Amino acid sequence: MSLSEGPLGGPVLIVGSVAYDSVRTPFGEATEVLGGAASYASVSASFFSPVRLVGVVGEDFKYEHVAQLAHRDIDLAGLRRAPGKTFRWGGYYEYDLNQAHTTATELNVFQDFQPDLPDEYRDTPFVFLANIDPALQLSVLDQVRLPKIVACDTMNFWIEGARDKVLEVLARCDIALMNDAEARQLSGEPNLIAAGRRILDLGPGAVVIKKGEHGSFLMSRDSYFVAPGYPLEEVRDPTGAGDTFAGGFIGYLARCGDTDDEALRRAVISGSVMASFTVEDFSLSRLFRLSPEEIAERYHEITAMTRFSGL
Ligand code: AMP
Repeated sequence: MSLSEGPLGGPVLIVGSVAYDSVRTPFGEATEVLGGAASYASVSASFFSPVRLVGVVGEDFKYEHVAQLAHRDIDLAGLRRAPGKTFRWGGYYEYDLNQAHTTATELNVFQDFQPDLPDEYRDTPFVFLANIDPALQLSVLDQVRLPKIVACDTMNFWIEGARDKVLEVLARCDIALMNDAEARQLSGEPNLIAAGRRILDLGPGAVVIKKGEHGSFLMSRDSYFVAPGYPLEEVRDPTGAGDTFAGGFIGYLARCGDTDDEALRRAVISGSVMASFTVEDFSLSRLFRLSPEEIAERYHEITAMTRFSGL
């Protein structure tokens, strides 16, 4: 597959937060920069397939950020502007970049947001429910007609605060993506393989558990696949890695059109590749200056890195 022809197949519908983030890592700081689960996932997916974004921003959302998303050909008909302030998240990381410490979550315009999908969005075949209130994820699911694949993500904030709704979302999803800490928290299992099995029992046909720099694994009832993290020597800001992974994952599936185990494996590698770029810089900066050729090159590097011969 050559990505240089631009986005094909799909399209993908993505609902989730569009945010202003304030982030500190041992390698720098960024204040009130573009972030949000849906922003990262949409920009990442847009390298593979056409994207329809559903979310809400406040009156303070800057035109330059709308323009950056539109420049990636992301369809913004489902992105509302509402009175009030854009969602804000604040956090920091210590030397263990796998662990985000949240200092602020201000839902702002997301507090009263009721997604109302434009009619043409309702038949979107690939749906990604990025991180946001699971009640909103459910509302989107109620509005789409017979999607081919629904993937979902969540995080500790919602597992703690709205567990029942998170379980309802999982029961209606084909593929669940989450990080290791969230998988343990959700399943109550310290062992990640056992956690994966428990999550499969909640409904999805496949689960992808991400372990930051240590890679990820894909598990279904009869298959297991492990993907390495791309060996980066310099990581500046891990924010958005999970969402970018998910965007690459669903974007790839939408583009190739297959959903068998082989396609899911290639989607996991596509997600890993996209996440490895995001963490090289703050906000979406690296994604905005990424080329299809760089994606293809890293995909091939990972393929070579994981090849080994028989005994
Ligand atoms: P990630 O690093 O991939 O887990 O996601 C980071 C992004 O998630 C940031 O850009 C935040 O704006 C967004 N985020 C943080 N907390 C929440 C939350 N409770 N609901 C929705 N999005 C959030």
